[in-house]
Amino acid sequence: MRLVSKGTKLYSILFNKCPKCHTGSFWASNNPLRNMFFNTKNTCKTCENCSLTYELEIGFWYGSMYVSYALSVAVMVLFWTLTNFFHPQINIFNEILIIVIAILLVSPLNYHLSRLIWINFFVKYIPNDTN
Ligand SMILES: [Zn+2]
Repeated sequence: MRLVSKGTKLYSILFNKCPKCHTGSFWASNNPLRNMFFNTKNTCKTCENCSLTYELEIGFWYGSMYVSYALSVAVMVLFWTLTNFFHPQINIFNEILIIVIAILLVSPLNYHLSRLIWINFFVKYIPNDTN
């Protein structure tokens, strides 16, 4: 048995799948950079398999900012821990600079994952649903 099998929320989040059918893609591309900067037309509208409209209500994606914030804090804590572990005498300004750069580099992935995580809070997996 696979660790992340179809039907789990983690499958939808990690493999960029529609949260309802786990067959259609959520983002048009699996590449977070492409979704963030180059592809704005076919992203996050409806599922090509089950026709689920991803924006459940107007302003739905504002809620994904909470998820994005949580992911950003996790990255900040990770890099704060790593810099203090490998360089305990680091200057605080250099440490802040490292953390800000890390946040900026991770932001496309953060954007990609935060919407997937957010919609998975509200949409249940329904196998073989095609309407
Ligand atoms: Zn679907």
